[in-house]
Amino acid sequence: MSPEVFAEGDIVGVLTTEPLDRVLDYRAPEGGCAVGAFVIVPLGPRRVLGVVWGPGQGDFDRTKLRQVAAVLDAAPMLPGMHDFLTRVADYTLTPLPAMLRLATRAPGLGAPPATRRVYRRGDAVPDRMTDARARVLAVLDEFGGLSFTLGELAAQAGVGTGVIKGLVAQGAVSEQEAPRDLPFPPLDPDLLGKALTPDQAVAADALRAGVRGQAYGATLLKGVTGSGKTEVYLEAVAETLRIGRQALVLLPEIALTGEFLTRVEERFGARAAEWHSGVTQTERRRVWKMVGEGGAQLVVGARSALFLPFRDLGLIVVDEEHDTSYKQEDGVLYNARDMAVLRAHVEAAQVVLASATPSLETWVNAEAGKYARLNLGARFGPAVMPQMDAIDMRTEDLPSGTWISPTLRAAVAQRMDKGEQALLFLNRRGYAPVTICRACGHQIGCETCDARMVEHRFLKRLMCHQCGATKPMPETCPSCGVTGRLAAVGPGVERLAEEAAAAFPQARLAVLSSDLFGSARALKEAIAEIATGGADIIIGTQLVAKGHNFPLLTLVGVIDADLGLQGSDLRAAERTFALMRQVAGRAGRAEAPGTALLQTFQPEHPVIRAILAGDEDAFWRAEAAERKAAGVPPFGRMAGIVLSSPDVQAVFDLGAAMARKDGPLRRIGAQVWGPAPAPIARIRGRHRVRLLVKADKAAPLQAALAEWAAQFRLPANLRLSIDIDPQSFY
Ligand SMILES: [Zn+2]
Ligand SMILES: [Zn+2]
Repeated sequence: MSPEVFAEGDIVGVLTTEPLDRVLDYRAPEGGCAVGAFVIVPLGPRRVLGVVWGPGQGDFDRTKLRQVAAVLDAAPMLPGMHDFLTRVADYTLTPLPAMLRLATRAPGLGAPPATRRVYRRGDAVPDRMTDARARVLAVLDEFGGLSFTLGELAAQAGVGTGVIKGLVAQGAVSEQEAPRDLPFPPLDPDLLGKALTPDQAVAADALRAGVRGQAYGATLLKGVTGSGKTEVYLEAVAETLRIGRQALVLLPEIALTGEFLTRVEERFGARAAEWHSGVTQTERRRVWKMVGEGGAQLVVGARSALFLPFRDLGLIVVDEEHDTSYKQEDGVLYNARDMAVLRAHVEAAQVVLASATPSLETWVNAEAGKYARLNLGARFGPAVMPQMDAIDMRTEDLPSGTWISPTLRAAVAQRMDKGEQALLFLNRRGYAPVTICRACGHQIGCETCDARMVEHRFLKRLMCHQCGATKPMPETCPSCGVTGRLAAVGPGVERLAEEAAAAFPQARLAVLSSDLFGSARALKEAIAEIATGGADIIIGTQLVAKGHNFPLLTLVGVIDADLGLQGSDLRAAERTFALMRQVAGRAGRAEAPGTALLQTFQPEHPVIRAILAGDEDAFWRAEAAERKAAGVPPFGRMAGIVLSSPDVQAVFDLGAAMARKDGPLRRIGAQVWGPAPAPIARIRGRHRVRLLVKADKAAPLQAALAEWAAQFRLPANLRLSIDIDPQSFY
């Protein structure tokens, strides 16, 4: 057992956020320091953030050791967090400094003053009133008792800071020290929630009992949109607050947090802490610190909230747990759903995985009894899951360059006659996925990726969806130089909107696609507007599938139900199934029953048939059997290795060497496939080569991968990334 507290001069090991492969020794500062303390240490000429990880190694000349420069005014890292970071690092083969960076993503943690100077209205009246002074006092009066920083007040009043200082000297404005990071207002778990139906009450009771047990437990909370999943898990949150522990709710999409926070406020009487990339830097630091000090009872956030320093975490809810955005595809490659289960283990907490269409992994764990399972039945009120039908596109008569079949068109017209809304769903952003030259057949591609440029007519540009590069739409073909023969091929939502506008000239159209909105707020406003009847026809990408409520919507037309089935991805069927059901679930939420029509060229495809039949368990069983037979996740283990470099020869050479020297993998019975060009063989000018490793479920895969990769020296500019349990295969 390592000592918990170090006296001044003791040797301590400090893990820093710098990309070094080891914990560094320092001498404890004046006053000593404890294990877990966040510190600033000198490193070369710089000062960097770190955490006291344990006793030092002491294998370095003691007299040359430098001293910890400062202990930060922040709650120390608890043993549970230490354990969690270590285990995620081991699981994802991520160096610990990168884990620490993930766990300290709040700016200004090292900033020494824990208070800041704020300005309020003072009692005195200034001896001489000027326009500028009057504006300052007017701002303070207008905002009542609120206080401002000097900069904020000066900006708000449109004056220089000297004017404010002058008013302070006269006592007309008061200057005070206030704590920089304030606790969040307390939440009241006993405010009345929505009345629960009998099966919701049963589910809520089960979750509450789990929370009270203060031990690890995982539950799949399954229910279609509108079945009351949120009300039910908010009861688990309430119980967590009652017993004085903290709760975390993860959401897959920032655009959803606003609506959700409003519901939380209604339920608990105050706003919860919010954590995602759209939160201001100051607020991030406040959330980080308050979570650690216990000044935040509930955090609502994106996947990275999982790495906040909770003091006593009792409950994690992963809403829409099947959502692919829980997989971090950059930097530390982790799946927030799996890591939530791990964190719950470490913290002796409950984890609730909520979904209408759970991931196969979660479904299998529930079937095996590893997770408890709670099913929420029918929706509120009279509405039921929509009627689902296929439109067999082989028998529909469509003019070329159009995508709304006569059958679907008639169904939309019918809804409009009744004053109801229809949604046309196409999971493709932009105007057209391909731009082709009619003279020479050339397709316009991205200059740095092996990907075709997508026309975005709204932005008047071509865009690469891999790297984000854009260029203006050319007049002449870049290949043959002929002018005026470039043509759009295939539909994107913008083109579909054009077709809908021509077919229904009276209809008010709304297009919902992530690239058409500058901010989450603008998107939220558009959604609210549509929900109250601001549009007759909604044209949307998968953005609309994520839990937005459109009560007037009674028809969903899926333009291309086959789209997701084309990938070589092992999860293609699962994703299509989930997406189609979620989109269909948008229809008929209120009193009017809904219909979903799927345009497909292969109505006999097993996935399409399963979607239409609505027989989920049959689908999952068939899908599970297929994966089991193939020995792929969740029945076997996989790792994706991507090598990338501007030098195509270098990546293939290293890939071939890795495939040859596969001893460490063979010893655990794992197999290596590749090297092969990755499905997108070039992104941002870097050539990409992929290897796949497959192993038995019980095999010690991470250790073998680490030993395998350690055999090779990477040439400069070559990057190797290992993705355990890869979700996408691009
Ligand atoms: Zn051409
Ligand atoms: Zn590109």
